[in-house]
Amino acid sequence: MSHTGLDSVRRLIPPHVTLVAVSKTFGAPEIVPVIEAGQFVFGENRVQEAKAKWPELKSRWPGIELHLVGPLQSNKAAEAVALFDCIHSIDRPKIAEAIAAEMKRQQRSVKLFIQINTGREPQKAGIDPDEADSFIASCAALPVIGLMCLPPAEVDPVPHFELLKSIAARNGLKGLSMGMSGDFEKAIAHGATHVRVGSAIFGTRA
Ligand SMILES: *Cc1c(COP(=O)(O)O)cnc(C)c1O
Repeated sequence: MSHTGLDSVRRLIPPHVTLVAVSKTFGAPEIVPVIEAGQFVFGENRVQEAKAKWPELKSRWPGIELHLVGPLQSNKAAEAVALFDCIHSIDRPKIAEAIAAEMKRQQRSVKLFIQINTGREPQKAGIDPDEADSFIASCAALPVIGLMCLPPAEVDPVPHFELLKSIAARNGLKGLSMGMSGDFEKAIAHGATHVRVGSAIFGTRA
């Protein structure tokens, strides 16, 4: 089956890049047609919202891979490890420790990205670029597959994509989670391995 939004995004994504379809705010009626059109990797930004809608969808389509792209509180670590297959928002030592403890307790491995605050925005989550190397080193025992960034709004994202890429390269990390509806093509041109696309697939959020 085809899906207009999904098809238009997919045409722009090469096969080596993982499309994470960000379904936050949308429910099963909007999500099911996207699954039926062949999309099996989805992203959510809130643990509670994901818990309310994904267990049922995952039981219908066991091949679905669910990614947490939004901020995580350490008191939600158990639920996050149980529900998600990949977490993009490891952004402080306390979260890294809580996730490590939960993976051990649940005997479950979840792929991780470390979020870097490339714009050094005080209100935004993520590790300061100057502290990235030491934080990445402190996570050496964890299944970290790459880095994630959310560039500041209204600026050229390319310097942020390049900064993320250089931090990843010097730390031997291959994954780059960067690019959203407005800039995923640029992100891919600058090395993204995972793009997180919501509104270009599902339409404008309420
Ligand atoms: C909502 C969200 C996205 C997707 O945003 P769109 O502009 O709708 O593509 C990507 N990443 C994160 C962290 C988000 O919260």
